[in-house]
Amino acid sequence: MKSSLYPAQDLHRRVLVWALKLKVNPRRVRVQAMRRKWGSCSSAGTVTLAIDLLDQDTRFQDYVIVHELLHLRYATHGRMFKALMSAHVPGWRAMAARQISAA
Ligand SMILES: [Zn+2]
Repeated sequence: MKSSLYPAQDLHRRVLVWALKLKVNPRRVRVQAMRRKWGSCSSAGTVTLAIDLLDQDTRFQDYVIVHELLHLRYATHGRMFKALMSAHVPGWRAMAARQISAA
């Protein structure tokens, strides 16, 4: 695939592909600067991803995307949440500690 002129749009597209796969329906997806977290999910269904994810590998991007999208179904990191993480992003636990730079 050709690299895109609009990497943030690629991230967006990735979220939509995962949303279909996970059968969840985010109301809104935003990619923006975030200082402390790679992503968030509001109870109103807005998924926000850190623009800094564009500098990370796609596997890590998927980890953050799947994590936030699963919050549309599960509020907490319970047993089902973790089981689905493992099913969709094998090895996710190794990525869980990666910090966003606090620049
Ligand atoms: Zn979480």
